[in-house]
Amino acid sequence: MPMSDITDLCEQSPAYVRAIAPYQPGKPITEVARELGLDERSIVKLASNENPRGISPRALAAAAAALPDLGRYPDGFELTRALSQHLGVTMEQIVLGNGSNDVLELAGMAFLAPGRSAVYSQHAFAVYPLATQARGAHSIVTPAKDYGHDLEAMLAAIRADTRVVFIANPNNPTGTMLGAAELESFLLRVPKNVVVVVDEAYNEYLEPALRCPSIEWIGRFPNLIVTRTFSKVYGLAGLRVGYGICRAELADLLNRVRQPFNVNNLAIAAAVAALEDLEFVRESYALNAAGMAQLRDGCRRLGLAWIPSYGNFLTIEIPRAGSASRAAAVFQKLLRKGVIVRPLANYGMPDHLRVTVGLTAENARFLETLATVLED
Ligand code: PMP
Repeated sequence: MPMSDITDLCEQSPAYVRAIAPYQPGKPITEVARELGLDERSIVKLASNENPRGISPRALAAAAAALPDLGRYPDGFELTRALSQHLGVTMEQIVLGNGSNDVLELAGMAFLAPGRSAVYSQHAFAVYPLATQARGAHSIVTPAKDYGHDLEAMLAAIRADTRVVFIANPNNPTGTMLGAAELESFLLRVPKNVVVVVDEAYNEYLEPALRCPSIEWIGRFPNLIVTRTFSKVYGLAGLRVGYGICRAELADLLNRVRQPFNVNNLAIAAAVAALEDLEFVRESYALNAAGMAQLRDGCRRLGLAWIPSYGNFLTIEIPRAGSASRAAAVFQKLLRKGVIVRPLANYGMPDHLRVTVGLTAENARFLETLATVLED
């Protein structure tokens, strides 16, 4: 096919699809090894907020036991039932997702369209613009307050055509969180025809006293969708499984735009086992708390500022050299020394790097390497 034909063809795609800036994932270990000629085993990846302990042995055994069933289409019944018992909601209130990312997209598919808008915050998770733009809807981005969500500004930004508000709590990449009182006050005042998606991907890393009673809120706020994931504390990022919890009527709507078999057999089996593996969750939580303290101490020693984080990652400010931003160069130098972190220029934060809390030795390696790189 000549070039001009393929260009013409691509132009048939709606302008709002062509305008989408692709999601930029953390660099995979295999890619860095290939590009820089490094040994994969020498590379530390702290770039995608994964659980550094990997999948739990119980979840792995469950996935392995499900291998012979791969010839059949999946049945989400068991996972939905396990989640409904775990959360104290009915099965009809749960929507399974291929990662919680999928559920964010389902909310966009069910409620957004050209001529409608979604509200989200500056520096909020990158999937909110994607889920909005893919529907041809308009994005209303409110300025962040101390890097977190400014709920008063978000409330004020809601227009007559607004159908969805996305809130990440805690937020990625800033690690900021909203308290229960603030969020509840927002939910009480938001127009009832606007769906509020509260994205709780990092909920399990919060100290229990800081967690919002978001599941209880669903009974009081029919426009609330809470999303959670098995990608973080449960260690199943590669299997892609998350879920949404909301009123049954809303769940029914999201299920209409959901692919019938969006969560696969292995993911379902592993997620059921992961949910029961309380010890793995407890240990992962404790490792994260200790690793977060280790990273903060290291930054303090290096004289670096960071944004206080409630997730499994820390966002660190890299001091400028005069007026010149140095974070991109520091990212590249870390990469060449086999340490992958996340640059945040695409989040409008060109002076910050985000580092995922790793194993103790990985955190130490990051801090040592950062110290060397900053001296260059
Ligand atoms: N929400 C937030 C705030 C996230 O940081 C992430 C993962 N980076 C997700 C949702 C999506 O995660 P997943 O699709 O793996 O559940």
